[in-house]
Amino acid sequence: MNISRPKIFRPFREIVTDRHEYAKKWKAKTGGKVIGYFCTYVPEEIICAANILPVRIIGNNEPQTITDRLCSRNKWCPFSRNCLAEGLLGNYDYLDGVVLGASCFHTQEVFAAWVKHIPLSFWHYLFIPGSLQSTSADTCLVGEFEEFKSSLETWTGASITTEALDRAIETYNKNRQLMKALYELRKYEPPMLAGSEAMQTVLASQLMDKSEHNNILKEVLAQLSDGKNNVEPAIRLMVLGSENNDIDLLRAIESWGANIVIDDHCVGSRYFWGEITPHEDRLRAIAKRYIERPPCPTKDFPLRRRLPHILGLIKEFKVQTAVIILQKFCEPHQYDLPAIESGLQELHIPSVVIEIDAPISMAQIRTRVESLIDMLRVDTY
Ligand code: SF4
Repeated sequence: MNISRPKIFRPFREIVTDRHEYAKKWKAKTGGKVIGYFCTYVPEEIICAANILPVRIIGNNEPQTITDRLCSRNKWCPFSRNCLAEGLLGNYDYLDGVVLGASCFHTQEVFAAWVKHIPLSFWHYLFIPGSLQSTSADTCLVGEFEEFKSSLETWTGASITTEALDRAIETYNKNRQLMKALYELRKYEPPMLAGSEAMQTVLASQLMDKSEHNNILKEVLAQLSDGKNNVEPAIRLMVLGSENNDIDLLRAIESWGANIVIDDHCVGSRYFWGEITPHEDRLRAIAKRYIERPPCPTKDFPLRRRLPHILGLIKEFKVQTAVIILQKFCEPHQYDLPAIESGLQELHIPSVVIEIDAPISMAQIRTRVESLIDMLRVDTY
């Protein structure tokens, strides 16, 4: 059971809770534009260099019916339906534009529906090849990034300078270093922060100005470095799988007797893992980072790079068990499941797969996760 220090993470919790208000205030304060983005393969550095705030579009995990006339409940994952619902409900009425970094079909469909039904003055479809392991992937990605950069320049009427790109790269790299430092604290036994707090921190970074996130995160790290650890020892658990931004789900898992010590999620380590190595061709440097970052299953072939990365994290963070979280109808992660499960079995890591919908059926999940944790407790203590 986790009783980590809630005050330390309050700024991030508030931004996540009031994310729309945060973006509106940022806009009023700076007079700048705000772009909503789908998928973490969007090179936010280029948006930031144009003095635009990139904000990840996420759903609110609540049941809704507003998307029923546009997309089937029996085909689209709840995350993508809820992203569209948020737009149709007008909760993103402050956005000036949207951009998609193409990944699974569901995000592409939600983007197309968004463009059709929620018209904005700017939209951009950024092609991110599935074959990111191909020798021509960097050339392809650099071309896509050049086109994206010039469409932003045309829209804003201002050029994106090399100096601005350098500043953005530096800010984003700093954020990745700070996030890595925060995750390092999860290696302790017991970890120095809860998994729900880690997710809150990553999610906030996808919703707010990165320099501001860096400043708050430095404060958080300073406060955590006092050596006091209020997290109680518990089974060390990894969460991985589809998009999941439901912090309450992580809190619940931790309340059932585990400490979530690491993740492989796009609202988690996959978002910030891997820095940009400076190169005189800035767009090529950015492209290289997105090619080499821990992959999403939609970009993980012909070689499987995701599995060894996950197994490496399991060893590094001394994971005892894993919960694989799948959004209902999330085919990319379902396809990956057999390989992931056999990899976990080889390391003797027991795991459970939970499928989530909106709303999440917490009672069912609780029974399965608690029995997994109880089984390990018997073996461990
Ligand atoms: S959860 Fe799965 S299906 Fe849904 S948007 Fe993400 S990758 Fe696509």
